Amino acid sequence: MITMEPALNPPPPPARLGVNRAGYRGERIDAASLLKEIRFLANRNGFTEHVSAVGVHELVFLSRLGQPGPRCYLSAGIHGDEPAGLVALRDLIRDNAWPDDLNLGICPCLNPQGCELGTRENAAGLDLNRDYRSPRSIEVRLHLEWLSSLPPWNMSICLHEDWESHGFYLYELNPGNLPSLAGPILESVRAVCPIDHSPWIDGKESTAPGLIRPTIDPTQRPDWPESFWLLQNGCPKGYTLEAPSDWPLPVRAKALQTAVQTAVHCQALRA
Ligand SMILES: [Zn+2]
Repeated sequence: MITMEPALNPPPPPARLGVNRAGYRGERIDAASLLKEIRFLANRNGFTEHVSAVGVHELVFLSRLGQPGPRCYLSAGIHGDEPAGLVALRDLIRDNAWPDDLNLGICPCLNPQGCELGTRENAAGLDLNRDYRSPRSIEVRLHLEWLSSLPPWNMSICLHEDWESHGFYLYELNPGNLPSLAGPILESVRAVCPIDHSPWIDGKESTAPGLIRPTIDPTQRPDWPESFWLLQNGCPKGYTLEAPSDWPLPVRAKALQTAVQTAVHCQALRA
């Protein structure tokens, strides 16, 4: 006799916390301990480390180069009130499940002062992600020194969070219309975190649920984010991932981790 198992219902989507009011009010992390753990795991998994001092803090740049495949750049922690990016990069580096031939550059915490304070800006009140055209901050100067010592990347992924959003979304910078990874990224994230279906997100019109393809001309903007510098310096395709920080930290970290995994595996297949 064949016994039929009852059909399993899919788990309900993770619930919104409703704690964010006029800014991020969710879980905090111990950024210094997390960065120490990231360095330990990166060293164990064969990454090369470059460290620069910013006062009592350290800027850490990790790389795994010399492979035949595409060159992917990842960063997190440029806004200190967006902790999920650091957690996601810790988990990605720990799991070490990268495509074999992938080259990687990883900046796990670009604003160590802000990450310790839990503020968007650094200790001097500068939004580092508006400082890439004519840098005033030591953090961005050191970052550009490291970036400029390396050949351009094929794809960049910047991990962020948005305290106001109604789900996960991303920006795609792809002015040359290279094969887009936005669809596969959003489809994979949908399984772990709600997607923002709003027609307007962060003041911009979405082109599909969770997707913003901004029309930009960096030469017309004085306050470049990191992604504009990368675009203007040889990286033809960039993704800025925005996890919804009114959801629990593990959900947002998993969303960012899933998005990066999908992006690097698709890029490795298409390169
Ligand atoms: Zn941000």
